[in-house]
Amino acid sequence: MSKNGNGGLSPIRHHNFCAGPAALPTAVLERARDELLDYHGLGLSVMEMSHRAAEYVAIAEKAESDLRELLAIPANYKVLFTQGGATQQFAAVPFNLLGAGGRANFVTTGIWSNKALAEADHLFGDSRVAASSEANGHVAVPRPRDIVLSDDAAYLHYTANETIGGLEFDYIPDARRPDGSDVPLVCDLSSSILSGPLDVSKFGVIYAGAQKNIGPAGLVVVIVRDDLLDRARDDMPSLFSYQALSDAGSMINTPATYSWYLAGLVFEWLKDDIGGLGAMDIINQRKADKLYAAIDASDFYSNPIAPLNRSRMNVPFVLADSRLDKRFLAESEAAGLLNLKGHRSVGGMRASLYNAVPEAAVNALVDFMADFEQRNG
Ligand SMILES: *Cc1c(COP(=O)(O)O)cnc(C)c1O
Repeated sequence: MSKNGNGGLSPIRHHNFCAGPAALPTAVLERARDELLDYHGLGLSVMEMSHRAAEYVAIAEKAESDLRELLAIPANYKVLFTQGGATQQFAAVPFNLLGAGGRANFVTTGIWSNKALAEADHLFGDSRVAASSEANGHVAVPRPRDIVLSDDAAYLHYTANETIGGLEFDYIPDARRPDGSDVPLVCDLSSSILSGPLDVSKFGVIYAGAQKNIGPAGLVVVIVRDDLLDRARDDMPSLFSYQALSDAGSMINTPATYSWYLAGLVFEWLKDDIGGLGAMDIINQRKADKLYAAIDASDFYSNPIAPLNRSRMNVPFVLADSRLDKRFLAESEAAGLLNLKGHRSVGGMRASLYNAVPEAAVNALVDFMADFEQRNG
């Protein structure tokens, strides 16, 4: 892939700060375009291949092995490429982990973790809050000592990065009952997976919808420790079953073939063009630091999150005078800075700085913000 694919603003591609489905690397889209009509001389598109064809199986296996390499996923973990969005995992996780009884414990830090809790509670009742940032208005995550599991905890679920609130954990929680025994740690990593290195061995289950940092919508990646495959409830829909998905190589039925292929191109881009997750981490830190510094340097813009827990991927901010919101959005869009409108539940602005958003986009945004303030402040 071309080195400059993630560089400056191309004449036809604007800077896209969408929270999801989100920006994809230009180099990935260029390669997909080049392979679209005729994949490697086979005379057909990846979209038109049988998922059982040797060529497609090779694409799928390469994607998995590249993801394993990027995240250094230990051999005792299964990697599943499934569907239904992260939201389906809100149900699949309790179905897969509550077969031996016990209660699901949750750390709630905003909208997504509360939705995960609500779904488990709707299905099986008895979900329990082990810690919450509700009392502080979700501006700082609970500290490690504040996370207290129940004696009958079956697992602990948390959301590493709250995409809407812009609140991110600065540590990996310990999942231990009061008697000191371990339970599986389950993480919704939808909006921060692959933003930097991660110690996968600390987790029982990781899941992530693709449309933020992996690829196009339609695909969910699940990483599950293999000793957890025998804890499923008998009444589980077969498509939810981590054991069945694993046995079938994620092909119980037709998978999201094209999304899986594009995810594979993104993994190759991370490895070959970016240089791995260590390099990605440094770029992401620089991008986020730049934007938060611009917000903090001005009375015109503000972000309420405690510095330790400010999300690197999703940066919400408000204008001191919300009457200027409409003008800010119209002018930023005209300047080629797309999708800066905040989530409907929060208002204001949100700039999502996922892996595929180049540093040049952040520079352009910071320049626009300074200029807008000068003209309207
Ligand atoms: C986007 C998102 C979801 C929901 O994803 P869907 O694929 O739309 O179900 C869940 N959790 C987090 C943290 C997200 O960012």
